[in-house]
Amino acid sequence: MSGERRPRVVIVGAGFGGLACARALHGAPVEVVLVDRHNYHVFTPLLYQVATALLEPAEVAQPVRQLLQKLPGVDFRLGDVTGVDLDARVVQSDRGPLAYDHLVLAAGAVNDYFGNREIAKRSLGLGTLSESLALRNAVLERFEQAAWTEDPVQRRRLLTFAVVGGGPTGVEFAGAFAELVHEALARDYPHLDLDRVEIVLVEGSSAPLSTFAPKLQRASQRALEGKGVRVLSGAKASAIDEQGLRLDDGRTIGAATVAWAAGVRAASLADGLELEQGSHARLKVLPTLQVPGRPEVLVVGDMAAIPQAHGRPESLPMLAQVAIQSGRHAGEAIAASLHGRSPQDFRYRDLGTMATQGRNAAVAQIGPLKLSGMLGWLAWLLVHIVALGGLRTRLLVLINWAAAYLLTERPVRLITGTTERPDEQEA
Ligand SMILES: Cc1cc2nc3c(=O)[nH]c(=O)nc-3n(C[C@H](O)[C@H](O)[C@H](O)COP(=O)(O)OP(=O)(O)OC[C@H]3O[C@@H](n4cnc5c(N)ncnc54)[C@H](O)[C@@H]3O)c2cc1C
Repeated sequence: MSGERRPRVVIVGAGFGGLACARALHGAPVEVVLVDRHNYHVFTPLLYQVATALLEPAEVAQPVRQLLQKLPGVDFRLGDVTGVDLDARVVQSDRGPLAYDHLVLAAGAVNDYFGNREIAKRSLGLGTLSESLALRNAVLERFEQAAWTEDPVQRRRLLTFAVVGGGPTGVEFAGAFAELVHEALARDYPHLDLDRVEIVLVEGSSAPLSTFAPKLQRASQRALEGKGVRVLSGAKASAIDEQGLRLDDGRTIGAATVAWAAGVRAASLADGLELEQGSHARLKVLPTLQVPGRPEVLVVGDMAAIPQAHGRPESLPMLAQVAIQSGRHAGEAIAASLHGRSPQDFRYRDLGTMATQGRNAAVAQIGPLKLSGMLGWLAWLLVHIVALGGLRTRLLVLINWAAAYLLTERPVRLITGTTERPDEQEA
């Protein structure tokens, strides 16, 4: 191929899917350009530990350019992709256009507020690094405000926290937040009666962690309640106003802070492409991950509604492993197409799911194996430390986890910057 222009593969998104795709293209005779609006890759499963003052941003995020040092053929461009001209095969961004021969869309997901702008404005999400930092700042700020107020009603409101969404993200945040409050913050605020802090987890279905086996749901709820979290199931958030969080059954939780973990939808880039969208606004793809009628465009990870094998109606779940495996498959499919091979269907290998409720408590569902309590927690620790990138990060995270476990310490109790919802995620 020497002397010929190499085909250019543009990958939008340096998350789990985009990076896996770039790695799979390593060594292939293509020019790879990876574009992301951030110059870092985020390990989302530990974002809630940033929001609960246990980990620093650098322990859950790594510079993309550092990750790409091992992939010299991949060029990184910092930029916000604003659209794609599918006919002209050009990606449009805030920093300029980029032509492609093959396009891989891996822009992930954003919080879903189900069209409720007021909720979007008044709640704090956990989906990005800036959101998690804003949530950390906001909850710490509430304790400082409570220290100033003499009014018991106002103090109660400041020290009531609602977490909406009983999926893994909401459950993990609620459990870790309860530990932050009743351990580190209880020592920081000896004049506030932190036994009166209310943490309410609101879940629309009959129990938190509804995708887990019933016995794991019960174990998870028990563990949360043991840490002082009140679980309200079967109720949906309908509004947030000055009084707090309104539920569709007429109840109001008088919370000054509402953390939103009630669902996600495909990144807004998916909306502007005039391609067919499925559940959670994800782009519909063929089993090969190609967009129907556009074989040069593949979609992976949270942005794609990937059909399940054996004709099951629902698409694959929005999980890191789905993103990694589909990203890898897309890279391999593009590399194979250069040799004239036709694309294969993507087959997802389910490695299981897990969620922790804090120290000594996690549930894990790995094939027929169902773990809870201490065993689940040890499995959770192992999987997450192995999945984290880089020796330095692993060591730092392990030190922080050990300090949290042995000394009930959460070292990042710093109010730095905004307590407002960052507007990088569109409602
Ligand atoms: C708080 C939280 C906790 C989670 N915990 C777990 C867990 O424990 N286990 C699990 O399996 N899954 C978990 N998930 C889900 C998991 O993170 C996603 O399934 C996975 O990240 C999807 O990978 P992706 O590559 O599709 O998108 P992402 O990893 O989200 O990456 C998308 C990338 O695209 C970039 N991007 C978006 N739009 C644009 C644009 N217009 N222009 C340029 N760049 C753009 C973003 O900056 C981002 O870097 C969690 C998610 C969250 C939010």
